Amino acid sequence: MTAQLLDGAAVAEAIRTEVRLKAGEQAQRTGLAPKLAAVLVGDDPASKVYVRNKIAACLEAGIRSVEIRIAGSAGQQEILAAVRRLNEDPDVDGILVQLPLPKSIDRFAVLLSIDPRKDVDGLHVINAGRLAMRLEGLVPCTPAGIIELLDRTGLPIAGQRAVIIGRSEIVGRPLATLLMHRDATVTVCHSKTRDLVSISRQADLLIAAIGHPAFVRGEHIKTGAIVIDVGINRVTDLNLVRQVFGDDSPRVAGAKERGFALLGDVHYREALERASWLTPVPGGIGPLTIACLLRNTVRAARMRREPTAWA
Ligand code: NAD
Repeated sequence: MTAQLLDGAAVAEAIRTEVRLKAGEQAQRTGLAPKLAAVLVGDDPASKVYVRNKIAACLEAGIRSVEIRIAGSAGQQEILAAVRRLNEDPDVDGILVQLPLPKSIDRFAVLLSIDPRKDVDGLHVINAGRLAMRLEGLVPCTPAGIIELLDRTGLPIAGQRAVIIGRSEIVGRPLATLLMHRDATVTVCHSKTRDLVSISRQADLLIAAIGHPAFVRGEHIKTGAIVIDVGINRVTDLNLVRQVFGDDSPRVAGAKERGFALLGDVHYREALERASWLTPVPGGIGPLTIACLLRNTVRAARMRREPTAWA
């Protein structure tokens, strides 16, 4: 069996087109396009790239944006004060604090300080609670993107046996809730799970959100499974890149040139041989995460300006 690739980039583009329309309508109705504020603390190069990409995506979707840069040496109070100013600014519809934060900062204190109505990453306990209770709210972007990808590709969720590897607040947990809401039978595995292979091999729908390159091997995958690879890992070990893509792959040549390759959590070559559908990395889940962030910003603007939407 050779898996078909799930086209995350195309689905993301479709969502962005819808967002652009809605942002335009909102701008016409209210005189103001929705506005996202992105808070970047410190100089982490990957975080800088993520924020730059989100700001560029806003521009392209007709969403206003502002980037708030805070020095890595800043204390917790300074970050909380910046979030408070954004909470109180009626012109700001969505606030995202780029993670990870410096180790000295209590990230939960920062995330909980965001006005839940502006919490476009969906990580505030109010939004996590609303999701658990099936109430309308702001849903974390990566899990929401995965559901969109399955739905818009016409792949079934109800009745499927879903196994998620990874239980983070940002991916694994909210995704488990969303899949349960859609009548999948869900198992969540993690670093302390015993005999992972025997569990993951039962999955019709296998989602990897671990943060270890090429961790999920062929043996973890049932023949014909749908495999969603959330991981984005920067890998400098050329031998691993060769092993995952094969010596002749352009990915190996690209890695030699750049000095690194982006690998998912799934062993690409082995998964291709067993799965029926597979998301590539990059170009799979990453673009969907950004598209759903834009959609959340438009939703946040609507909900805040029309509070009955929260009732
Ligand atoms: P995290 O570090 O918060 O969580 C990792 C999870 O993996 C944990 O629950 C842990 O228990 C589990 N895990 C670790 N080792 C394991 C093992 N040996 N066996 C089974 N489970 C194990 O990570 P996260 O924030 O959820 O991110 C996971 C990956 O997804 C990372 O590579 C990250 O870069 C990527 N990510 C991508 C996007 C996107 O838009 N594509 C969004 C978020 C995260």
